[in-house]
Amino acid sequence: MSDDESEALAALIAKRVLDVSDFPQAGVVFKDLSPLFADGSAFRTVIDGIVDHYGRDGFDVVAGIEARGFVIAAAVAYAVGVGVVPVRKAGKLPRQVVSASYELEYGQAVLEVHADAFVAGQRVLVVDDVLATGGTAEATLGLVERAGGDVIGFTVLLELAFLEGRKRLAGRPVHALLAV
Ligand code: AMP
Repeated sequence: MSDDESEALAALIAKRVLDVSDFPQAGVVFKDLSPLFADGSAFRTVIDGIVDHYGRDGFDVVAGIEARGFVIAAAVAYAVGVGVVPVRKAGKLPRQVVSASYELEYGQAVLEVHADAFVAGQRVLVVDDVLATGGTAEATLGLVERAGGDVIGFTVLLELAFLEGRKRLAGRPVHALLAV
């Protein structure tokens, strides 16, 4: 993808994000990507942009992080004809899981994936909507590997660069379509 195309993609997302102050708690500016998801043409362009970045043969399966990551993961997977794996909050998956607990700004959270979700060595693209502090991504990438997957990329639509999540993911192949 050319620089111009990348910039156009970033602008397309930037125009369809709503900033919601003090949600879900005081001091947080929540980046609501619902307007992007609701715009069929823009959503398709963004999904095609992700596929272009890795190439249609660049990954074997897409893992999406609950819940907005599911929306993106399913669309990317469908676009190239691969499967999708949900990375879920604790207690939602019915069979044997691999779990990772990680720090949130306040307290802890747990993410899980089915222990048999990946074939050993399968190339996994992990997707989510927003990269903030990087805790969610760090936990998820570790989970995917413990479940046998080979993480070939982590893509978000929007990176909050000032929170320096990338530092926490040093050495990981992080790809953000828009950074603010
Ligand atoms: P973090 O673990 O801090 O990188 O947070 C990333 C996860 O929390 C992603 O699954 C996001 O959907 C969500 N998230 C964190 N901060 C925000 C924000 N300011 N706006 C929207 N989603 C956020």
